[in-house]
Amino acid sequence: MKILYEDQLVDRDHVKIDLEDRGYQFGDGVYEVIRVYNGQFFTLREHLERFERSANELKMELSYSVEKLESLLKDLVLKNDVEDGGIYLQLTRGISPRQHNFPVGTKTMLTAYPLPSRRPEKEQLHGVKVKLVEDVRWLRCDIKSLNLLGNVMAKQEAKENGAFEALLHRNGTITEGSSTNFYLVKDGVIYTHPATNLILNGITRLKLMEIIKEGSFKLEEKSVTLEDLKNADEAFITSTTIEVVPVVEADNTMIGNGEPGPITRKLQSLFLGKIESEKSK
Ligand code: PLP
Repeated sequence: MKILYEDQLVDRDHVKIDLEDRGYQFGDGVYEVIRVYNGQFFTLREHLERFERSANELKMELSYSVEKLESLLKDLVLKNDVEDGGIYLQLTRGISPRQHNFPVGTKTMLTAYPLPSRRPEKEQLHGVKVKLVEDVRWLRCDIKSLNLLGNVMAKQEAKENGAFEALLHRNGTITEGSSTNFYLVKDGVIYTHPATNLILNGITRLKLMEIIKEGSFKLEEKSVTLEDLKNADEAFITSTTIEVVPVVEADNTMIGNGEPGPITRKLQSLFLGKIESEKSK
């Protein structure tokens, strides 16, 4: 396997991460997961723009331009023969003697490599259960940071309870999933949390909002409560790796009639159409 290591494509064995890399010691870094369909990136530019924003919010600079990164990532996909899969991209603040504050000008460390990724067809078809978990993460969830312990613990709790995803809530308000954005449908209106510091503004969320606005759907970027969830007609989650997945049960309570709803179904098929149309560009 070839790995992007700074600005070179190297063999896996060539990659050596230092003991004092701040990503390793503090989770001091940012990342992206980008989907590849038919050997082509989907929404690459959007992911790279978010990557740069996340880095800048943490006072980190990319060591080279987004354009150069784009071309190196395309090379990475080619050299590894990625057909259907994904790319994991990570930037850490780099190496410095262990202390919380960072010396100005520390050289960042960039790595990227292919991840296997398959469409979760069964879940997309039948829908999934979610486990409600209190959102105890920090207040900058808009940054795609390597610090994922809040998300990791929540997802683990979901898995231990036989659920596909943890649905996070703060003071009775639903924020998002542990690795997904969340949507609720009530009386024909689609609700999703506004893109504040409390959620990650998903690229799938942004693409889906384009689709929603192009179609004859009603969308409100407004948060919903756990009480609203009990009375929802439909619910679904989105992310780069799962696309659009219906949610049919939350903590043993059925959502709507317990089946994927018609608006969710329509959005799933329009999203697939978007992927197909980008492929043929
Ligand atoms: N929210 C969180 C916390 C995530 O970790 C992710 C993706 O990993 C998402 C939302 C969905 O983002 P995207 O659609 O860009 O994959």
